[in-house]
Amino acid sequence: MALQLDTALIKTASRCNYDCSYCYVYQGKDTSWRAQPKRMGLDVIDSLVDRLIHQANAQAAGFAIVLHGGEPLLLGLENLTILVKKLREKLDSQRYPISLQTNGALLNKEFLDLFSKEKVSVSVSIDGDQGANDIARVDVNGKTTFSKTIKGIQALRSHTDSEFLFAGTLSVIQPSIPAKITYDFLKSIGSPNMDFLMQDGNHDRLPQGKSSFKSTEYGDWLCELFECYTSDSSPVPIRFFDDIVRLILGDSGTKEGQGTDPYGILIFETDGEIRKNDTLRSSFDGADFFTSRWNVRDTKISEVLSSKEFSEYARMQIPICESCNSCEYLSVCGGGMPLYRWSESNGYDSPSVYCHDHMKIIRSVKERLLLEGVECT
Ligand code: SF4
Repeated sequence: MALQLDTALIKTASRCNYDCSYCYVYQGKDTSWRAQPKRMGLDVIDSLVDRLIHQANAQAAGFAIVLHGGEPLLLGLENLTILVKKLREKLDSQRYPISLQTNGALLNKEFLDLFSKEKVSVSVSIDGDQGANDIARVDVNGKTTFSKTIKGIQALRSHTDSEFLFAGTLSVIQPSIPAKITYDFLKSIGSPNMDFLMQDGNHDRLPQGKSSFKSTEYGDWLCELFECYTSDSSPVPIRFFDDIVRLILGDSGTKEGQGTDPYGILIFETDGEIRKNDTLRSSFDGADFFTSRWNVRDTKISEVLSSKEFSEYARMQIPICESCNSCEYLSVCGGGMPLYRWSESNGYDSPSVYCHDHMKIIRSVKERLLLEGVECT
């Protein structure tokens, strides 16, 4: 049976006002963003909204809509208003949550009033305190972006609807900064939910701060973070750990990269092209293209979802290598995100470059659950 649409990730703008050194879009091997219109035009917005509404009527489950970039606020207030109003006219906020992933610099009252009215929640990308954030999150002149992001978070927190609006923070792990400093800082700025990402990397290009395939710098950092989480009497939810616990207990995860459930994720570029998960771009130039080069102007989403090429792409989420398939951690780890399995010589047919980090943190969470007397699968 064809997968249903699970996440529609919309690239409202294909450029960014920051120039983060680890960015998989602008600093990686992919160059296709250069050919994209800087912002999504009204004709593409019309076609895209029609396709999403059609898909909502064609499938039983709801789906999440994520406004993404580049920096999604670069679309501008006028066109963003048109996009979210059109979506909300037909798609209710319960079954079709809309969220925006932003660096926070352009957040102001006008945007926030719109998001409050149309039920769009906001997650802010920030890697921790200024020391952590300044490692990679800089502007086009290489200068710190920290105060701009903090100003955006302050605008978010001071809005009358902040409880709904502020969905949380998304941080790329900086293993050289103690996890406790990062956790305490994110808590101090009022993050209501934290999520963390490993840095991009693969078997040909090791992630920043990782010395070898077998090293566990990220696993160690995550164990330290888990300790902060579990020893805090009023902890801020951390999606990464909550999913590990769910999966250990035999339930499903909620996001690609953990567990073995495939997710129906499609990316919509500013010119309307429909693509695979854009994180694949860090593997090689064009890694996120479907051969068919579908576009919302001429293709229904259901046609993409029922295609052979989409099934092959969805199957990529599940690792095929022997090490993963015989691994006791597979049901929780899921082989990690496909981009981390890449090598020129082996394609995606290897365990994650974070394999030993995954094992370390999963073991640690499991031990903790057993200590608490929780029965694990
Ligand atoms: S821990 Fe390693 S071998 Fe096991 S499933 Fe994850 S990536 Fe594969």
